[in-house]
Amino acid sequence: MLGKARKLVERALIGRSAPALAHWGISLPRRLVTSIQADGFREVVQYAARHQKFFARKLSGNGIDPSRVRRPEDLGEIFTTAEDLLTLPSEEFLCREPQAVFETTGTTGRPKRTYFSYDELDFAARYEAAALYEIGVRPGDRVVCTFDAAYWISSWLTFLACKQLGVFCSAVGKPHPKEVYSRLREYGYNIIIADPTWLVTLSEIAQVEGAPSVKLMIAAGDRMTDAYRRYVQEVWNAPVVLGYGSTEMGGGLGMECLRRDGYHIDEFNFWVEILNPDAEGYGELVVTTLARRTMPLIRYRARDLTRFLEGSCPCGATIQRIAKIRGRRDEMVVMGAGNMYPEIFEKVLEGVEGISDRWQVAVRQEGRHDILEFRVELSNGISPATVEQAVRENLQARFPDVWANHVCGMFRLALRCLPAGKLETGRKQRRLVDERSDS
Ligand SMILES: [Zn+2]
Repeated sequence: MLGKARKLVERALIGRSAPALAHWGISLPRRLVTSIQADGFREVVQYAARHQKFFARKLSGNGIDPSRVRRPEDLGEIFTTAEDLLTLPSEEFLCREPQAVFETTGTTGRPKRTYFSYDELDFAARYEAAALYEIGVRPGDRVVCTFDAAYWISSWLTFLACKQLGVFCSAVGKPHPKEVYSRLREYGYNIIIADPTWLVTLSEIAQVEGAPSVKLMIAAGDRMTDAYRRYVQEVWNAPVVLGYGSTEMGGGLGMECLRRDGYHIDEFNFWVEILNPDAEGYGELVVTTLARRTMPLIRYRARDLTRFLEGSCPCGATIQRIAKIRGRRDEMVVMGAGNMYPEIFEKVLEGVEGISDRWQVAVRQEGRHDILEFRVELSNGISPATVEQAVRENLQARFPDVWANHVCGMFRLALRCLPAGKLETGRKQRRLVDERSDS
C-alpha cells in the first residue's frame, strides 16, 4: 500500500524531467517532505520484512511487529552494518533478482557488494541529474568524469545523469590527469567531476601549463580539505562543489548547492539519522534507503561522523543539510586532548610552511601520558623547531579547548620529521592513528 504523500510523489515523478524535479525538490514545503519520508520508511520496512531474510530475522529476534514501525527509533537496536554486508552472503539482503552489482573496498580489502536493478540505477541517476541541474549543469556543457569506473557506482551514475539531462559526458574511468589535461581543449570540457586528490593533481598541471576556461568542478569519493578546495578554485577560477555518497547508498546521498555549506540530502530517497550525537550534534550517519527494492538497506551505519546543519540554507531549499564529514567513526581517537578527528589536524597544519601534504598524527603513550605526535616531511631546508612552533601556535589559536588540555598536562606534543616517501601508504592514508596499547 502506497501512502498518500508517496503516491503523490510517484505521480509527480512520472515523466518528470530532471530540471523540473530539481525545482520541485527545493521548493516543497517541509511538512510534505517529512510526510513523503514517513510514507517511504513505512513501506520499505514492510517490504523488507517480507522479502529480506536479514531484516526479517532481526525483527523477529527483537520481537518487533513491522506494521507498528513508524520511525527509525521504533526499530530499537536493529541496524545494518558494514560488517553484516562483509560477512553474510548476499542472499541475506537480496529481495529480488538483481541486474547490476557494485562494490566498495573496505580498509580490510574485502569488498562490500550492493545490488541494483536497471530501473533503480535510472531512478537514482534522475535525482543526481536534478542535483547537477541545481548547481548549473546545462545542455551544451561538456562533462568529463574521472571517477574510477571498475566496480564503483559513481562513474556509471554520473554518465546516466548526464544522459538524462542531455549533456555531453565522457565517463572515462580514472586515467592519469595528464591524459585528461591534454584533451581539455580538444573536447571543450567545461565541467570536471573527479576525486579530490585527482583534481588537485590536475590543477598542479594546469597551474604550470595554463588552465583552460572551466565553469564548474564537482568532487566526491574522498575528503577534500578547505585548503585543497581553495587551491583548486584559485587555479581554475571556478567553484568546486562537493558531493557525498557511497556504493551502499546507491551513489549520491547529498550534494552541496553553490553556497557550498553542507550537503543537501536527498530526503525523498533516504531517511538519515545521526546516531548518539555529542554536545555539538556530531554522531554517526545512519541511512535507510527508501526507494530501492532489490537490496534495500534499513538503518545502515555509514561509520562517517557528521551532524545536521541548523536553519535553512540561503539557497531556499527545504531539504535538510548535513555538515562535511568530520571523519570516520573508526578514525576518532579519544585521548587527553579530547575527541580527536583527522579534520582537527588538517586545520592545525593548514598554512604551516615547509611541510609536504603527506603527514600523519599518532597518539602514543609514554608512561601514563598521551603524546600527540605530528609526523611530517620537511622541505625547503626548514628547521624542525620552526615547524613545531607553527604547529603549537596554530593549535593554540584554532583549537583553544584542545590547547587548554595541553596546558593542564593532559597530553604532550611531539614533532617527528621523516624522510620523504616514508608516509606513502597506498590508496587511503590514515591521517590519525592510535598506537597506544590497550593494556
Ligand atoms: Zn543550499
